[in-house]
Amino acid sequence: MAKAQETVLEIDLDALAHNYRYLRSKVAPETKFMAVVKAFAYGSDATKIAFKLETLGVDYFSVAYVKEGVALREAGISRPILVLQPQPTNFEAMIESCLEPSIYSPRILRLFLAAAQKLDQKKYPVHLKFNTGLNRLGFCENDVAHIMECLSDRDEIKVEAIFSHLAASDDLDEARFTEGQISSFEKITTAFHPKLGYRPLQHLLNTSGILNYPAAQYDMVRSGIGLYGFGNEAKFDQELKPVATLKTIISQIHRIEPGESVGYNRAFKANGHQVIATLPIGHADGIGRQYGNGATYVFVHDKKAMIIGNVCMDMIMIDITDIECKEGDEVLLFGKGASAENFAATANTISYELLTGISQRVKRVFIGH
Ligand SMILES: *Cc1c(COP(=O)(O)O)cnc(C)c1O
Repeated sequence: MAKAQETVLEIDLDALAHNYRYLRSKVAPETKFMAVVKAFAYGSDATKIAFKLETLGVDYFSVAYVKEGVALREAGISRPILVLQPQPTNFEAMIESCLEPSIYSPRILRLFLAAAQKLDQKKYPVHLKFNTGLNRLGFCENDVAHIMECLSDRDEIKVEAIFSHLAASDDLDEARFTEGQISSFEKITTAFHPKLGYRPLQHLLNTSGILNYPAAQYDMVRSGIGLYGFGNEAKFDQELKPVATLKTIISQIHRIEPGESVGYNRAFKANGHQVIATLPIGHADGIGRQYGNGATYVFVHDKKAMIIGNVCMDMIMIDITDIECKEGDEVLLFGKGASAENFAATANTISYELLTGISQRVKRVFIGH
């Protein structure tokens, strides 16, 4: 592995393949696999990740917004793409790029039908989303009759799938709640089948759902975080490999005297002779202020170095008093050899937020194939 010469997010495509195969092995061979590549594939690179996953045999992709799906199509991704939260203003663009909408409310259904009609569509595939307890997006059970009424005598759209999303699949203390979600999903889909006259796909499980409730895999599963190396539990994290590793280098080293301060607002004050290093990464790169002032450490030659003082826009300072190192040396923030989950936990957040927050300013480099 090449040493970093600037701040880079290293994306390991072999780790991605490993994670995909691990998750795939947890579901039946005939179950379809949807790879969730929203938010730049959880902060990595949606296009590169999607191409790799297409080669590995992923059946479906999903993104949050139309713009993300259009970018994948423009790059040449050909598998079906579900858009989880399309906005009506983009419905025509969506149809032009063959992206499948999540239809989650009577308003969205009405507006999508109008767009499909305007563009002369027949049997355009859509995924109906039901709210089974997350209370975020989705039709309620009582909407089934209304949906059927809207669809009768219309052939612009076809219900490709019916789906829902679990609220606490990673928390076994909430198993009863999750089982309740599973049975209400079951009830809704059963109500649909005779009315539609065909059987749409059903999908419910996210990564933790795959790992904790595989019996509810139905026709397809939707995995995001697991593909990127996290299973929301130590025993699963062990089986997965982190795809993204964030590294930087030391820009400059300063020796400071007792009483001297470091950074804006003099937030850090030395109480002895200390050695500090400045790194070319800051909150504009996704390492927020919450990681500063001793909350978090990074690794310099495998040794922990505290982030001291306030995180600046483009820089952070670390304490290297007891570490032998020099300007230009590599510094590891998280990834291979330093869990992003632990890094995130020091600031009371989770891997999802840390990974998706690494800004587009950080150069992505790829290893593996
Ligand atoms: C983001 C998302 C997922 C992926 O969840 P992970 O926990 O990352 O596997 C699945 N389904 C929906 C509806 C989502 O919004």
